[in-house]
Amino acid sequence: MTPKFQIGDWLWIAQVHYTQKEETCPICAGYKVVYIRSTNGDEWEMDCRYCSPGYDPPTGVVKVEYEYADKPLRKQVSGVQISQGEVRYTFGHHHSGTYTEDEVFEDKSDAADRAAEIAEKQTRDRQDGDERRKANDRKSYAWHVGYYQRQAKKARKDYDRALRKARYMGTKVRKPKE
Ligand SMILES: [Zn+2]
Repeated sequence: MTPKFQIGDWLWIAQVHYTQKEETCPICAGYKVVYIRSTNGDEWEMDCRYCSPGYDPPTGVVKVEYEYADKPLRKQVSGVQISQGEVRYTFGHHHSGTYTEDEVFEDKSDAADRAAEIAEKQTRDRQDGDERRKANDRKSYAWHVGYYQRQAKKARKDYDRALRKARYMGTKVRKPKE
């Protein structure tokens, strides 16, 4: 495998950077609570878990992470490595960071195009992850509702049993007086 470029070549490196911005929570629309209606018409209000970091109370906002294409960097190749069938280039005196052959270009606009492509793909992958998280949260809400409904049913049963017992005891205690 012959590297496309050599030590000393000046190349453009595709640059992709990562940033965050705050957005209104897509689940609770900033209200910090969600309402869940069960099929029998019961409605439940719960803290929004999508915008609550860890065990903290909900904030109504979420941090959205995304990648963006930055201006290509022009640098001189300082090292060429070939390992496991892949060519990697290092740049500058410190050889900091290695770049594969599809991240370095002779032409500046090619590097910019590649950066845009990488940024778009990485942002999309990240959003897919967010969608999965949202779906998991919906499942988890449904689980909580089911749990509370079971608890309520059990409480009702306990109450009925206690009431029956009280009545039974009552009749038993009264009986000798008759
Ligand atoms: Zn929320």
